[in-house]
Amino acid sequence: MQFTVAIDGPAAAGKGTIARAIAETFGFAHLDTGLLYRAVGAKMMMRGRGVIVPELAEKIALELTEADLERDDLRNARVAQAASKVAALPEVRAALLEFQKSFSKRAGGAVLDGRDIGSVICPDADVKLFITASDEVRARRRFEELSRKTPDTRLETVKIDLHQRDIRDASRDVAPMRAVEDALLLDTSKLSIDAAVAEAVALVKKRFEKA
Ligand code: C5P
Repeated sequence: MQFTVAIDGPAAAGKGTIARAIAETFGFAHLDTGLLYRAVGAKMMMRGRGVIVPELAEKIALELTEADLERDDLRNARVAQAASKVAALPEVRAALLEFQKSFSKRAGGAVLDGRDIGSVICPDADVKLFITASDEVRARRRFEELSRKTPDTRLETVKIDLHQRDIRDASRDVAPMRAVEDALLLDTSKLSIDAAVAEAVALVKKRFEKA
């Protein structure tokens, strides 16, 4: 059986939590595609000494391994910024395309979350969700998450990081973040994690039962 769920939306809207819950509920494989760009961004910062060099970023993307996705420094804000910069390079996106497409066709079902899943990676997905939340709510959520690991995290800095990435991700020429026409929109601003997950699972269930 092949069944694909495409989840897009800005950072800290709840995509990751929802994607993991859907994967667990339906037994699907899950790919957090942001990790691919974070892994390229992290390596680029090291090898390019802070400078983004398109040819090198492409090489890094082509040579990416599973182990690169398991580094424990991928979640910090510096890596997030680098990820969003390398993600605007067409050669990096092209290098990561096939891996994501083939993941989405896994037997047993797959759920992928990112920015261009419904538009570019899986335009024929069985379910497309676009998860949003207000800027304030997203910043607070990400602040709480980052503060657990890094207690001196500042809310204002988190707000700026999210804002800069939103703008860069939505305005780039290649695969910009957007809600495709056939995506189901879910605003999680006023929902608890459990309520948001329940709503998303219910949306997928409806389609899954028909498939
Ligand atoms: O989802 P996450 O915040 O981990 O993504 C990090 C960055 O990777 C995003 O800001 C975005 O620039 C990029 N990204 C992307 N396309 C995806 C997933 C992530 O451009 N499918």
